[in-house]
This record gives sequence, structure tokens and C-alpha cells, in this order.
Amino acid sequence: LIDTDELYEKIKHTANEINKHYGENELLNIICILKGGAMYTLELVKYLKMPIKLEFVRLSSYGNSTETSGKVSAVMLQLPDYKNQNVLIVDDIMDSGLTIKFLKNYINDNCRAKDIKIATMLEKKCARKEDICADFYSAEVDDKFLIGFGLDYKGLYRNLNYIAYVE
Ligand code: IMP
Ligand code: MG
Repeated sequence: LIDTDELYEKIKHTANEINKHYGENELLNIICILKGGAMYTLELVKYLKMPIKLEFVRLSSYGNSTETSGKVSAVMLQLPDYKNQNVLIVDDIMDSGLTIKFLKNYINDNCRAKDIKIATMLEKKCARKEDICADFYSAEVDDKFLIGFGLDYKGLYRNLNYIAYVE
């Protein structure tokens, strides 16, 4: 669906948008959602110009299926206090929106952040079930099951250097 060169270009473009939005001075706290968001996050941060701090959380809703279970579980979720600081949640894809909404609510309730924004590699707007959307994304995609660059099917294919879809 998206080949390697195109994907890297798109990620660079998103990083530039994030740079423009936040400027170069203020600290940006990035929260990467494992496991899927790892590759995108690490590619994205290479181009960011502001000082950043990086946290990783692990959330799960899909199990081994190609459809969300409808319930998000926090496998690993421990975050610092973000009083008066900006937070950017980074994930591989926003599908139903459940996962990111869960994390955003958690941060709102526990971390006192000044502002919380969302960056996802892929935006699957047509599958949205929650009232939420990505502030930054690298590509909009149709309602197909996608693999590669962090996205898995039954744990496999995360290492593909491009985005493909499963028939
Ligand atoms: P949501 O909670 O439905 O928005 O789903 C978000 C999570 O489900 C993502 O972080 C992915 O890990 C996973 N996911 C959603 N759509 C896909 C897909 O097409 N391929 C692989 N994983 C997906
Ligand atoms: Mg995920």
C-alpha cells in the first residue's frame, strides 16, 4: 500500500508539521504505545527539533484477531507527572479510536498535562467509533487490515519496511 521511500517521506513531513506546531524551545513529552507504535515513534523523533522526553506504555485490544475486542487493557502503564507540559501520544494507527481515547483519558486523570495531542502513522477515519481524531498523521487509509512498520497480524510482520494489507 505504501512503499518504503514514500513512507519515510511522509514521516519526515509529519515531523516537520510537529516542529512547526510546537517550535524548537519547549519540552515535548512523547508517549509511544507499544508494541505497534515503536517503529513509527523512533523514526519520527529523529527529525524533531525541540527537546523531547520519551515514555513507553503498552496497551492491548486486538489479541490475535483482526478486529478490536472493544476493551483496552493496560499491560504496562506508568507515567510521570506532566504538570504544565505538552504531551504527544504516538501510535501506529488510529482505528476505532478506543486505544488512544483510553490513554488520553488516563493522562487527563493522572498526569496534569497542559495539552495532549495525538500523532499516528495511519489514520483509518472510516472505522472510528469514538469522538476523537489524530492531530498529526502520515497517511489516511481505507478500512483494510494493514501490516508492516509496527503493525502486526498475530504478532508477525512488524518488521516490514513498508505498509501492506491482508486480503
Ligand atoms: P483502535 O483502538 O481500534 O483505534 O486500534 C488501535 C490499535 O489496534 C492500534 O494501536 C493497532 O495496534 C491495532 N490495529 C488497528 N488496526 C490495525 C490494522 O489494520 N492492522 C494491525 N493492527 C491494527
Ligand atoms: Mg497498537
